[in-house]
Amino acid sequence: MSLLELDSDLRAKSQGWCAAWGVAPLAHQAQIAYSTRQRTSLGRAHYEGERILLNAVLRDPALRPLLEEVLCHELAHLAARRLHGPGIRPHGKEWKALLRSAGHCARVTVPSAELPPIRSRRRRRRRVASGSISQVLLAKVFDGILRIAR
Ligand SMILES: [Zn+2]
Repeated sequence: MSLLELDSDLRAKSQGWCAAWGVAPLAHQAQIAYSTRQRTSLGRAHYEGERILLNAVLRDPALRPLLEEVLCHELAHLAARRLHGPGIRPHGKEWKALLRSAGHCARVTVPSAELPPIRSRRRRRRRVASGSISQVLLAKVFDGILRIAR
C-alpha cells in the first residue's frame, strides 16, 4: 500500500502536514503499508527508503483518530530527518515541533484503553487488562517505533 491508497481525507491531511513542514514531496514519496506481523508496535518509520509500516489493527474504523495520529507521528519522523539530518533525537524537539504544528500532541505512549485486544502469536485473545496501572498495556515509542509494552 502506498500513500496513494490512503483514503482521500487522510491523503489530503498528509499532504497538508508535509506542505506545512516544508517537505511537500514527502507526502507522495513515502511508502506506507499495513503490517499484520507488527505485534509490538502501532507504527514504525524506516529512514532508509522512507517507509512507514502501520499496524493492521489501525484499519479498524473505530481507530480512525489513532490511525491519523500514528501516520502523522511516523511522517514527522521522516520529515524531521529530511529537515535536520540524522543527528537529531527521534522524539526530540524538532520532531515534537512538527507534531504540534500538525495539531497532534507529541505523545509517545498510547493508553491501552484506546487499543483493541491484540492477537498474540498463539492466536489467543490477549485480554486488555483493566485495573491497576501495572496491568495496563502501554504503547511506547523507542527510536521511531511506537511500541506496545506490557
Ligand atoms: Zn516515534
